[in-house]
Amino acid sequence: MKTKKKQPRRGKHVPQRTCVGCRTVQAKRSLTRLVRTPEGVLIDTQGKLPGRGAYLHDLRTCWEKGLKGSLARSLKTELTDEDRQRLNEHMKTLPEQEPLETLPQAAALADE
Ligand SMILES: [Zn+2]
Repeated sequence: MKTKKKQPRRGKHVPQRTCVGCRTVQAKRSLTRLVRTPEGVLIDTQGKLPGRGAYLHDLRTCWEKGLKGSLARSLKTELTDEDRQRLNEHMKTLPEQEPLETLPQAAALADE
């Protein structure tokens, strides 16, 4: 028997993804999914891995911020050295900044 708690409807909701680096909520912009798995935090390039996921923009600045703590918090885990190494390797392949558009939020956040 299932006990149903009062909860807002889930399922039909348009998925909104928050970049854990810059905290911008976006549906369209390119985000990379990261998943907590028994093998550690993996980059889910196919978007198919099961598990708790978090999103980061394909921007080095967002990854840097995420790796400082918000990614691990979001995944409710701790990054192992192996995870960090893997994520750092990926981060190196990313552009520093978005080439064409400027991100207004990023400018505001930089003023910390
Ligand atoms: Zn971001």
